[in-house]
Amino acid sequence: MILTDTHTHLYSEEFDLDRDEMMQRAIANGVTRFFVPAIDSTCTPSMYELEENYPENVFLMMGLHPCYVKANYLEELNHIETELAKRKFIAIGEIGIDLYWDKSTLEIQKNAFKHQIQLAKKYKLPIVIHCRESFDEIFEVLESERSDDLFGIFHCFTGNFEQAQQAISLNMKLGIGGVVTFKNGKIDQFLHQIDMKHIVLETDSPYLAPVPFRGKRNESSYVSLVAEKLAAIYGISVEEVAKITTENSKAIFGI
Ligand SMILES: [Zn+2]
Repeated sequence: MILTDTHTHLYSEEFDLDRDEMMQRAIANGVTRFFVPAIDSTCTPSMYELEENYPENVFLMMGLHPCYVKANYLEELNHIETELAKRKFIAIGEIGIDLYWDKSTLEIQKNAFKHQIQLAKKYKLPIVIHCRESFDEIFEVLESERSDDLFGIFHCFTGNFEQAQQAISLNMKLGIGGVVTFKNGKIDQFLHQIDMKHIVLETDSPYLAPVPFRGKRNESSYVSLVAEKLAAIYGISVEEVAKITTENSKAIFGI
């Protein structure tokens, strides 16, 4: 069984003391494909180190996280363009709009989001979207950039059924993680109405650990708990969930 964690912050300092053990636990659990989103330029060196240590397993994205879109964001976007011109990445991410932490930066968040979507098109890469309290704003930008070559993943999807359908109509797959195991997570209520071909698995580790680890540090090995929950929702085996969602991740990332 091969499980794919399409969103994991392996370079997080939360793993500094036991990163290799954490990676081995995941691999022993069948999680052998790790897709790593960028936050800002400060994480670039540790991302390259991870890739060097796990060249078969770790795949890197490049991008500026909306919570890190600050006054210096043009410099950050420059860094992204420099790296993209230098070497291969598998996606632009994570990018988007976050109005939970800071509403005052909405305009520059939108600018950075749009700019990075255009980079994704230029390099023919998928985008990985971070959306928090910002569905309307995100959909507005996506609609304005809508085209056949715009595709990707709505990471940590926590919207309703209508928003799920809208995301899918914009060539996006839904990244499903620990929230699906939460009692009040809501997405478990309608997910069975969404064809599994639109779904990929993720942890967003070290954040959003699934039950029974809710509130604790999350890690990629726990993606198996998300797969188990989906198996229950769809009434199929965990092996089938692993197979379908790994195939879906390959369709997005081309690897
Ligand atoms: Zn993330």
